[in-house]
Amino acid sequence: MKVMKFGGTSVGKPERMHQIAELITAAKEPVIVVLSALSGTTNTLVEISNRLAASDKQSAIEKITTLENYYQNFIHDLLQDASILARANDMLNEHFEFLKITQKISLSDALNKDILAQGELMSTKLFSLFLEQAKIEHTLLPALDFMILDQNEEPDLALIQEKLNGLLENYPTINIFVTQGYICRNAKGEVDNLKRGGSDYTASLIAAALKASVCEIWTDIDGMHNNDPRVVDKTVAIEQLSFDEAAELAYFGAKILHPTCIWPAQQENIPVKLLNTMQPTALGTVIKKEAGSVGVKAVAAKDNIIAIKIKSSRMLLAYGFLRKIFEVFEKYKTPIDMITTSEVAVSVTIDSDIHLDEIITELNNIASVEVEQNQTIVSIVGNEIAKTDAVLNKLFQSINEIPVTMVSYGGSPHNISLLIPSEHKTKTLQLINKGLFDL
Ligand code: ASP
Ligand code: MG
Repeated sequence: MKVMKFGGTSVGKPERMHQIAELITAAKEPVIVVLSALSGTTNTLVEISNRLAASDKQSAIEKITTLENYYQNFIHDLLQDASILARANDMLNEHFEFLKITQKISLSDALNKDILAQGELMSTKLFSLFLEQAKIEHTLLPALDFMILDQNEEPDLALIQEKLNGLLENYPTINIFVTQGYICRNAKGEVDNLKRGGSDYTASLIAAALKASVCEIWTDIDGMHNNDPRVVDKTVAIEQLSFDEAAELAYFGAKILHPTCIWPAQQENIPVKLLNTMQPTALGTVIKKEAGSVGVKAVAAKDNIIAIKIKSSRMLLAYGFLRKIFEVFEKYKTPIDMITTSEVAVSVTIDSDIHLDEIITELNNIASVEVEQNQTIVSIVGNEIAKTDAVLNKLFQSINEIPVTMVSYGGSPHNISLLIPSEHKTKTLQLINKGLFDL
């Protein structure tokens, strides 16, 4: 069994669905196909729900109608068989009826999640109808029947495994299964989701639950690149990464893969392949246990970082000070990305300002606090790079004109992270591309 996940742009046009059908029927073993919503749909659903939350019903309805027209055009391009087209039409009507009804009900958290789930429900049903038209035997597996969260809102892998295996037993002769990425049920049984970009996570969870041979993530770029192609002119695809390297890259900004996607595959030691729907024969990137080679592999950047500098003379020779500080972040469920300390100060970075005011107020009770917004973390990732001086020397030589705010080195052997003011990001990535990758 293998898992093949196709992202929003890979399902976003009728002709892309043709390509996906070709790719999945060429598989030499049974496949579970995980689909995202058509590109742009989840953003639109978020927007609809924001407008409903703001009681802006009229403009919510306008958005819904525009989306409906888009899907109507889509099915007319995708489907020619009159009876299948009629079923697609009925299916869309049902989903858009639901969306239109939402403006009559008050928007709860549960209803909001129901709205967000419509994208994946529609994309998988459309693709299933398309396969039916092409006479490709398959079964649609509802993710809501097996993708379950526990009390802590984390995927319950043991339960997912039990439910999924139970479902698959009903179809011993089927070789192609289609299911929704992103959506799930929480411990209360309500429709929920794995957070934005969560379809990769779905794919990896399914791969782990079924001990699949491989988890393929199909997007519109030929694998993970050594640098951000939107910022520097020349980048190269990375052939192989270890799970740890890939997790660091995904977390620190490489957009191609969702960071949570790594752990389930890593736990069951299932290779993850990043492949390109537009160029299916390109090698792409394989992520597995072994790093493949030693040295620098890539640089990634994560924007919208906030640095908090916490200073107290009471920290001098004191114990328990760091605990008090961390407890504040824990209380507000705000993860810390980078951290550096000196004898009387500690600096941390966070990537969410949701509870920034409360955090600052509480920290002010124990220390003096300075906040710097608009920072970017630049992470250099590679196997054992933090063990060789050479990388560090080259890195700092290449960026000596950049005002670095913080440095994190030695926390993991695979990562060196720098914090810089965001206005210097482009220059920094360009200098590193030249200095460390010679590109
Ligand atoms: N459709 C969802 C989103 O746009 C999930 C995904 O595509 O991974 O966030
Ligand atoms: Mg994605």
